[in-house]
Amino acid sequence: MSEGTERSEPASLRQLVREATGYDVRRCGRCSYCTHFVTPDDDLSLEIMLQLVLQNDEEVLTSKTLWSDAALRRAQQMCVSTMDVAAIMLVLREEAQRRGLSKEEG
Ligand code: SF4
Repeated sequence: MSEGTERSEPASLRQLVREATGYDVRRCGRCSYCTHFVTPDDDLSLEIMLQLVLQNDEEVLTSKTLWSDAALRRAQQMCVSTMDVAAIMLVLREEAQRRGLSKEEG
C-alpha cells in the first residue's frame, strides 16, 4: 500500500520552515539575545516570531517584523543558535503570500 504519499492536513508552519530551510525552530533556546535589537517599527522580536511558528500561530504571518526589510537584514546574523532567521522569514513571507496574507508594500 502507498502510505504517506499524500498529506491530508496542511503542513504546520514549523514543518514548512524545516522542510524549506533545514532549521527546526525548536532550536531557539529563548535566550532573548535578539530581543535587544527590536526597534519601534517591530511588533515582535525574532524570539517571539519563532515561538509563534512553533505554536503554528498565523499571527506571525501578518506581523510587522516579518515584513520589515530592516528586521530581515538584522535577522541574518542575529541568532546565537546560528539559525539563519532571515531565511526562515523568507519562507514565512512566501507562505503568507500563498495564504493571501501578504503585507508587502507595492
Ligand atoms: S537569538 Fe536565536 S536562540 Fe536566542 S532567542 Fe533569538 S532566535 Fe532564539
